[in-house]
Amino acid sequence: MEQTRVSVRCADCSFEAGYDGLPAARTALDDHEAATGHEVAWEIESLTGGVSQAGADAGVCGRPECVNEDSPLANSGPADR
Ligand SMILES: [Zn+2]
Repeated sequence: MEQTRVSVRCADCSFEAGYDGLPAARTALDDHEAATGHEVAWEIESLTGGVSQAGADAGVCGRPECVNEDSPLANSGPADR
């Protein structure tokens, strides 16, 4: 299953982030522009295959239950938290 990944990057400061899907990216972009008056650019990336898997392994959503326990990355355990 393909996953849409959206990168947001500010031209005027170091603000930079990635989001899963357009709504989240738009919200962050609008928030930053409204708060700072900066001009934020965004870029849509469709991740497939290994790259998408690596993103899932990294727990990009930030919730522990989303971590792929089959991944070798999960074996690092609680030491890195
Ligand atoms: Zn900025």
